Amino acid sequence: MKWTQTLIPTLREAPADAEIRSHKLLLRAGLIRKLAGGVYTFLPLGLRALRKVEQIVREEMDRAGAVEVLMPALQPPEIWQQSGRYETASNVLFKLKDSGNREWVLSPTAEEVITTLASNEINSYRQLPKNFYQISVKFRDEIRPRFGLMRAKEFIMKDAYSFDTTDENAMGSYKKMYDAYTRIFARCGLKAFPVEADTGVIGGNYSHEFMVPAETGENEVAFCEACGYAANIEKATSGIPKTAARDIGAAIEKFATPGVVTIEALSKAPYSVPANRQIKTLICIADSKPIIILIRGNDQLNETKLMAKTGAVAVRPATPDEIVPLLGAKPGSLGAVKNVPADLKVFADERLHGANDMTTGANEDGFHLKNVSIERDIQVSAWFDLRTVTAGEPCAKCGKPLKIRRAIEVGHVFKLGTKYSEKLNATFLDVDGSRKPSVMGCYGIGVTRTLQAIIEQCNDKDGIIWPMSTAPYQVCITPLAVAPESQAMQLAEKFYAELTAKGVEVILDDRDERPGVKFKDADLVGFPLRIALGEKSLAKGEVEIKPRDGAVQSVKIDDAVAAVWQRLPR
Ligand code: ATP
Ligand code: MG
Repeated sequence: MKWTQTLIPTLREAPADAEIRSHKLLLRAGLIRKLAGGVYTFLPLGLRALRKVEQIVREEMDRAGAVEVLMPALQPPEIWQQSGRYETASNVLFKLKDSGNREWVLSPTAEEVITTLASNEINSYRQLPKNFYQISVKFRDEIRPRFGLMRAKEFIMKDAYSFDTTDENAMGSYKKMYDAYTRIFARCGLKAFPVEADTGVIGGNYSHEFMVPAETGENEVAFCEACGYAANIEKATSGIPKTAARDIGAAIEKFATPGVVTIEALSKAPYSVPANRQIKTLICIADSKPIIILIRGNDQLNETKLMAKTGAVAVRPATPDEIVPLLGAKPGSLGAVKNVPADLKVFADERLHGANDMTTGANEDGFHLKNVSIERDIQVSAWFDLRTVTAGEPCAKCGKPLKIRRAIEVGHVFKLGTKYSEKLNATFLDVDGSRKPSVMGCYGIGVTRTLQAIIEQCNDKDGIIWPMSTAPYQVCITPLAVAPESQAMQLAEKFYAELTAKGVEVILDDRDERPGVKFKDADLVGFPLRIALGEKSLAKGEVEIKPRDGAVQSVKIDDAVAAVWQRLPR
C-alpha cells in the first residue's frame, strides 16, 4: 500500500475528550474517528489491525473445535421475554420499532438466538457437543460510553456458545475455551491473565474473566503472588478473621450521640468507639423492595456480591425519604435492633457472625446503642459474604497478603448450566430415551476492546508499538526523496515489490514530506519495522533498518530484503 493512496490522518494533538493513552493514540495515529459518543468509524489502518485480532480469534476458535455462524443483530423481543432478560438486561438493551410499529431489540449478546436455534436444530445426544461462535457487531446502551473503543455503544464481540449433554462435558468445553483464550491473548501480544469472576446478569455458576493489567482499567483485581489466586474484586474473598467475640456482656444501653452521623465521628472522642466495633446499617432497594444490610463499620459493602447472593437484579441505596418511614430515623442513626418491620429482610456480613459488644444506631435520631450482641439482639435473615476485600488482607488459600490492581476485562468465559436451555426449550433426547436440557456455556471476547488494550499496553512517548501479529502493516518503507527518478524512490519501489511478493505487509511512505514528519508518523502509527532510504546512507551503499522498539541498524542495499525477512515471524 502507498501512503498517499490510503487515508492515515495523523494528528499532533488528540481531541480533548480522549482521556486515556490508548484512546488518544487511536485517534492520533489515524486508526479511528468518532461519529458520536461511543460510536466509531474504523479507518483503513484501524480496520487492518482489527482484522488481525479477528483472525487470531477465528483461528483459535476453529482450532478449539468451535464452528462459525452469523446471527442477526436485529432480534425479536419475544425471545428476550422468554429468557427473562427483556427485564433484567433492560438497562443495556437498545429497543426500536419498525414502520409497522413492531418492536425489535439490537443484540448486546446472543444467548437467546443461539438457544432458539439449538432448540429447533438439535434433538439428539448424537448431535452434541456443539460450540457455535460468531464475530459480529453488538449494541449496548451504555450510560457512560468512554475511553474510545473500551466502552462503546456499538462494538465488535466474538461470542461463542457451547451445548453439552452433561455437566462434566460442559466443563470440558469450558476448559477448551479457557485454553483458547489464553492462546488468543498471547498471540495478540497481550499480557492477559484469568481471574475468578461474578456471573452477573448473564447468569450461570462458574466464570473467569481475562484481564489486562492497566492503570486505566475499569476493573479491580485482587491477586496473590504467592499462590496465584486472582479474582475480580466483585467476587474476591480473603482469609481475614471474623470480628473477635467478647464476653456477651451487659444488656443493651442507649446513649445520646447528638449530631453524630458517621462511623468516623462515633470513633472519635468523647465516644471513641473503634470502627471495627461498630455495625454499619445500610438500607438498599433491591428490585424495588427495601432490605437492611449490616456490615462492620470499617468494611465496605460490595454491591455485586449483594446482588449475586440475594439474586437481586438492581440494587440502589435507599433515599432518606424512603428510610425514615421504615425505621423512624435518618441515615446516621440506623440500626436493626429495634423498630424493624417484620417483613424487612436483614442481611448481615459473615464477618459479623458471633460479634458482640458492638455499637449501632438506635433508630432514633441522635442516639446509638452499645453492648449489642448481633446473634442475641438482631434478627438476621441470612448471613452472606458481602464485604469488599482490601489490599494486604491474607489470601484465603495461602495466607500471604493480597494485592489489588486495576485491569481491563478483554474476555469472559461462563459456565451457564441449563438456565437458557430450560427457558428456551433447548432439549435433546439422551441415550436412555429421556429428554434433557442441554448444558450450556458462553464465551465472549471484546474484539475492539482487545485492540485498544494492545495499544494501552504497547506504547511509548512517540506512539504505538504494535506487536508483529496485530500491526496494520509489518514494514514501513520510508524513502526520504520521492521523485520517481530518485535512487531512494526507485529502491523503495523495488523493496516494496519484493517484500510484497513474499507476502510481507508493507506500506510505502511516498509522501513528499520532510524526513522528520515521516519518521514521527511512522513511530506514531507504530509499524514494527522501518526501512529508511536517505541520501547519506545510500551514498555508502546502505539503508537503515529500525525496529520500532530497537536501535537503527545499517545494512547493505542488497541485503536489505533478507534482513527484513529475517526479522519477521515464520
Ligand atoms: P463490562 O463489565 O466491561 O461492562 P461485561 O461483563 O458486561 O463488560 P460481557 O457481557 O462479559 O461484558 O461481554 C464480553 C466482552 O465484551 C467483555 O469481556 C468485553 O471485552 C466486551 N465488552 C462488553 N461491553 C463492551 C462495551 N460497551 N464496549 C466494548 N467492549 C465491550
Ligand atoms: Mg463480563
